[in-house]
Amino acid sequence: MQLIEHSDSPRYVRLHETDNVVVVVNDHGLGEGSRFPDGLTLIEDVPQSHKVALVDIAKGEPVRRYGQIIGYALETLRRGSWVQETQLAMPAAPELDSLPHCDAVPAAMPALEGYTFEGYRNADGTVGTRNILGITTTVQCVTGVLDHAVKRIRAELLPKYPNVDDVVALTHSYGCGVAISARDAYIPIRTVRNLARNPNLGGEALVISLGCEKLQAGQVMHADDPSVDLSEPWLYRLQDASLGFVEMIEQIMALAEARLQKLDRRRRETVPASELILGMQCGGSDAFSGITANPALGYAADLLVRAGATVLFSEVTEVRDAIYMLTSRAQNPDVAQALIREMDWYDRYLQSGEADRSANTTPGNKKGGLSNIVEKSLGSIVKSGSGAIQGVLGPGERVIHKGLIFCATPASDFVCGTLQLAAGMNLHVFTTGRGTPYGLAMAPVIKVCTRSELAQRWPDLIDVDAGRIATGRSSIEELGWELFHYYLDVASGRQTTWAEKHRLHNDITLFNPAPIT
Ligand code: CA
Repeated sequence: MQLIEHSDSPRYVRLHETDNVVVVVNDHGLGEGSRFPDGLTLIEDVPQSHKVALVDIAKGEPVRRYGQIIGYALETLRRGSWVQETQLAMPAAPELDSLPHCDAVPAAMPALEGYTFEGYRNADGTVGTRNILGITTTVQCVTGVLDHAVKRIRAELLPKYPNVDDVVALTHSYGCGVAISARDAYIPIRTVRNLARNPNLGGEALVISLGCEKLQAGQVMHADDPSVDLSEPWLYRLQDASLGFVEMIEQIMALAEARLQKLDRRRRETVPASELILGMQCGGSDAFSGITANPALGYAADLLVRAGATVLFSEVTEVRDAIYMLTSRAQNPDVAQALIREMDWYDRYLQSGEADRSANTTPGNKKGGLSNIVEKSLGSIVKSGSGAIQGVLGPGERVIHKGLIFCATPASDFVCGTLQLAAGMNLHVFTTGRGTPYGLAMAPVIKVCTRSELAQRWPDLIDVDAGRIATGRSSIEELGWELFHYYLDVASGRQTTWAEKHRLHNDITLFNPAPIT
């Protein structure tokens, strides 16, 4: 990466030697006439994080960023001009039947030994980073009653059990009024089931059901499942109550207290860093995402993989246009095929709604300098670091392997976070350029911003400022190591994130591609 420094002077970032556009780094952008140290002069105003033509680009010629083609010029783009979305024709999505397979598999990286964190060891061998009582639900009908009960549990019971971090109702909009036998219904059903098995919930099963709904408790909990303890009463059906609302609340509180007593006896123990299951995603991206925050996450992902941990990256519509780079890095042909299977499934899902991958980019992405989904994808996959891709999960599937795993999810922040929780994520890291106060109740969320200006405006929401990379105050390697240590500190409970301090929790949002009735 070439970075033109000097904090006051015009600065840009060029990511690859073949790039013919660069990105303006200065806060608040640069005016017409601004001259960069290499002689490039702006012929019009250009906002921060937007692209400038480094040379004259003729109509029809490719525009390159990250060394890849992000579009074709629809008109002549003059050297020093602002290159905008409307001036680029988007390249076609890579054909799935002619992708490279495993032709650039990175060699295994040297192991990192000796790194640990303090976690809660579960009966099934997984490790929690937090000690949370999670109350599963089978249907939305119970949400009002359960939310009432949880408020009382927090106020009246939780103070008696100081080793328990929180109580969380796993409420959602699925369970009834849905085509429960539809082809794709397995996705929301296994998501509900696997959310209850998240390592941060300690295996203490508790299900609140209405009684008459389509999704029955037996589809959510299995007696032979080693990840949940069903040795005690674990199910309460509201329709069994004979004394109305008061009885419902009392019953839920009694069941919850029995579990709080058990959770409260647990203590953190030193475990290897390999027990970390980190979920990564981005939200509110800008053109800095692929320059600062995501490369730092990628460096830290490599460190975690070297330490034996599990690292999940996701967001199908944000890898689709760069899929050829991932199938090249697949550990073996099965992994490459699984990547293609997930892309193909999603292509058909989008087609069924008469949409395509261009539906992903938002007005904020574009205001932040991202012209199209091709450019967004190239910046997004940088999060995955440089290692071989060792596994692929379908939506809602639970991870069983270590290493770098593609966890297929929509890019929607809430759906992605929910599916990564179902995969077993015990720590979440979230990069943002435009800014979002995102948080999850079931796992700590570390927010990393792409620009220092956002870190200054939101000092009590952003945990890590990756904008330091753009201004030369920190290298990708330095920030990568800083993140790696911060992950272990947050996992150990030595550090709490801003989302945890403020209890900022977005709702569980199930991915239900099946019909509702
Ligand atoms: Ca996202």
